[in-house]
Amino acid sequence: MIKRLIKRVFGKSAAARSVGAALVIPFEAHKVSRDGISFGAKRVTDGLQAAGFKAFVVGGAVRDLLLDKQPKDFDVATDATPEEVRRVFRRARIIGRRFKLVHVMFGEETVEVSTFRRAIDAEDAETDDHGRILRDNEFGDQQQDAARRDFTANALFFDPTTQEIFDYHNGYADIRANILRMIGDPEVRYREDPVRMLRAVRLSAKLGMKLDPATAAPISKMKDLLSNVPEARMFDEMLKLLLSGHALECIKKLRQMELHHGMLPMLDVILEQPMGEKFVMLALKNTDERIAADKPTSPAFLFAALLWHEVLATWKIKQDAGERPIAAMHAAMDEVLERQRAQLAIPRRYDTVMKELWVLQPRFEQRGGQRPMRLLALPRFRAAYDFMLLRCQSGEAETELGTWWEEFQHASEERRAEMLLPDTAGPKKRRRRTKKPSNAVQAELPID
Ligand code: ATP
Ligand code: MG
Repeated sequence: MIKRLIKRVFGKSAAARSVGAALVIPFEAHKVSRDGISFGAKRVTDGLQAAGFKAFVVGGAVRDLLLDKQPKDFDVATDATPEEVRRVFRRARIIGRRFKLVHVMFGEETVEVSTFRRAIDAEDAETDDHGRILRDNEFGDQQQDAARRDFTANALFFDPTTQEIFDYHNGYADIRANILRMIGDPEVRYREDPVRMLRAVRLSAKLGMKLDPATAAPISKMKDLLSNVPEARMFDEMLKLLLSGHALECIKKLRQMELHHGMLPMLDVILEQPMGEKFVMLALKNTDERIAADKPTSPAFLFAALLWHEVLATWKIKQDAGERPIAAMHAAMDEVLERQRAQLAIPRRYDTVMKELWVLQPRFEQRGGQRPMRLLALPRFRAAYDFMLLRCQSGEAETELGTWWEEFQHASEERRAEMLLPDTAGPKKRRRRTKKPSNAVQAELPID
């Protein structure tokens, strides 16, 4: 029965053989060739093997090649210690304090090399009160290195010299069947590291793989464990998700599984208002399209979009309570960012751009006098304009506002003069000029 299955999966001519606990799949069956590996990764595996070590391309790269997708990067796993790896290469440095990795540099390319390591049982490991493993830093052998990985599809080892794939967990068959399956007991693995729940969602959306039912089942009851994950790690994971090129699909899946509560605490509130939901979905679709077209994307723009409706709502509350628009907007922005930071640490370096995008929005309404020209001249105009177009598409701002600005940007001087609307802001109030601090948000709000 097993033999028949193997034959069906691998074909007649290319039988897989067993080496210890691994199934070794030959090139003739899997068709991933050495040519698919980056220059640097080949140099690293060649170099290590020439020095007498084992060395394989591992993880996401092997999976992506089998799925006919271009890998983002190529990681190498070896039985050489980090010091031994460093000695083999001219440009290599050891990184990481607790678990050491080696970065080997070839021109632009950096190859990450990790020594085989093993998972530590939750009983022996240092964990937090909820069972999350804080440290898993023991070297191990190849088989143990496979077992500590998350999904069967992520635990394949490709040897660029023999072009064989070593498979300890049936990952090859799972990839062929398009199934993303957790290695071991999913509940235990999620407890050890709750981020694996998010990885399950992200990778299945990105790769178009089906989540194995047993892998998906515990997620809804274990989702609260995400609140114990350090905020900085949550941010990294969120960013990977948003920039995966499949953000829309990821967020939809997160919602289905009710995992979005833990990520952006305000996202569930925003998504419950139809207008907020439409805006967020459009922003995600827009990002996915930009990634597909190889255009740059800015995390600050995305986070600004995700939080915009929360800023709007808070701004309104403050204005209704009698605060003046400018002060209310600034207070709302700070409040929203602070509330958000408690769960997922959006780095403060993004604050300036996010605030600028937000604070520039009301200025698109001012289409009289010199104001449109001043807005057009700002370095952040383009991003703020794209943001405004999303607001129009979602129905929050008038479509006419978008078309006006589209035309105005490209219009001749005469046409621009015709286009200007009567200046409704009334006679200019005299304002005292105060020197702005250098990091101040470069924007003005309507004068009330
Ligand atoms: P991507 O295409 O997004 O890079 P990836 O699977 O390569 O996906 P990485 O974060 O680059 O993801 O991780 C590399 C490899 O390390 C994975 O393929 C997996 O084998 C292992 N890994 C990563 N995160 C975990 C985790 N939380 N638990 C267990 N193994 C993990
Ligand atoms: Mg990777």
